[in-house]
Amino acid sequence: MKFPCRQVGEFSVTAISDGYLSASLDLLANIDPACASALQEAAGVSDPSSIHINCYLVRGRGRTILIDAGAGGFKQWGGKLRDNIARAGVSPLEIDSILLTHAHPDHVGGLIDASGEVAFPNAELVVHRREVAFWEDDGNLSQAGERARGNFLFARKVFATYRDRMRTFTDGEVLAGIGAMPLPGHTAGHSGYRLESGGHSLLVWGDIVHFPHIQIARPEASIAFDQDPQLSASTRSRLLDVVSSDHLPIAGMHLGEPGFALIERKGKAYRVCYET
Ligand SMILES: [Zn+2]
Ligand SMILES: [Zn+2]
Repeated sequence: MKFPCRQVGEFSVTAISDGYLSASLDLLANIDPACASALQEAAGVSDPSSIHINCYLVRGRGRTILIDAGAGGFKQWGGKLRDNIARAGVSPLEIDSILLTHAHPDHVGGLIDASGEVAFPNAELVVHRREVAFWEDDGNLSQAGERARGNFLFARKVFATYRDRMRTFTDGEVLAGIGAMPLPGHTAGHSGYRLESGGHSLLVWGDIVHFPHIQIARPEASIAFDQDPQLSASTRSRLLDVVSSDHLPIAGMHLGEPGFALIERKGKAYRVCYET
């Protein structure tokens, strides 16, 4: 199996699929449903309610890094990461760092195996300090609705499992050549990771979009998974402006199977261009 792969200076970056989760377009807000459907159709999306999950394997500068770990079968979502990294020729034992964009179950589910044990026994877990603080705050848990409550308990379980190997940050370089970029709104500590090497760059932007063809064309459209819909929309708009002006290649967990893209701006509108 051939996975989408990019060379970023000394880093080789491979998009590893974890599979799919299903989420209805009804979860979108601040956009007319007919308009959302039309954007999907125009882009040739055949199953409008299926969201692809990517993780990124980064190799170089003596390290083997995973950015996010997929859903691991949580709610029967995804779960293919383990087999797929093996197909990419990497054993879970070789992963030395896991960078988390945030702690939603479709990003941390693959961190624990079926028996609840650490799935990457030689890896440290690197995550924004605010992300851990948010999910571990009892006041936040007490205010959570039914679905969010499950997410709190699951994030806590994962953090507890990795407690002795967890490293938190606020911003700046988290590993040599990899800088964290806080992108708040989707969650409190939602962060992108910018890889820089040999004059080349790539931004792994986490959950800036769930439905790329809709939310890149209409950045104001938020999704029910966003903790702060207004902040997530303004973060998305600001970032689309930056990555399109700078021609900065992007990767994203729900960008679709191609895994890598450029954002083009035409007038006031943005559009996603998958690189082949
Ligand atoms: Zn998320
Ligand atoms: Zn997600």
